[in-house]
Amino acid sequence: MDTLGLDLSDDSLRGTPLRVAKMYVDEVFSGLNPKNRPEAKLFDNKYGYTEMLVEKDIRVHSFCEHHFVPIIGKAHVAYINSGKVVGLSKLNRIVEHFARRPQVQERMTVQIANELKQALETEDVAVIIDAKHLCVSLRGIEDVTSTTLTSSYNGAFKNVERKEEFLKYVYG
Ligand SMILES: [Zn+2]
Repeated sequence: MDTLGLDLSDDSLRGTPLRVAKMYVDEVFSGLNPKNRPEAKLFDNKYGYTEMLVEKDIRVHSFCEHHFVPIIGKAHVAYINSGKVVGLSKLNRIVEHFARRPQVQERMTVQIANELKQALETEDVAVIIDAKHLCVSLRGIEDVTSTTLTSSYNGAFKNVERKEEFLKYVYG
């Protein structure tokens, strides 16, 4: 703010450094704090459900670690249970935990997949992230239409039919 010549004695700007610091630590980068890692309690699959479960259109609010501007998009995740199931909102919370830190989309995708594998005790996990990078749309090339798609297919999702089934649920 000093470099930009902003008047830090102005009462509108005076609190901005502390506000930004608090926003980073308590909100948008709260996923850096290991204490905030969501605990995924598993339940026995008493229903005999053996197909894939897909949770789609999970909100992704992250920040590009190169420019500290938002990455906004959706995550679609799927798993096939290994005898244990998880509360659905835990899938959202796992996505959120890894989104809420300075990120690179590729890394975020792999981190979410690895966490799901560990939390759900199965290799059969798929993750797609489809997101808009504001560092691409509001600066640099200023492309406002492009989105970035990344994926991680593991275990049974390496099978083409499984993968296609997942993609059909997500994209129709
Ligand atoms: Zn960037």
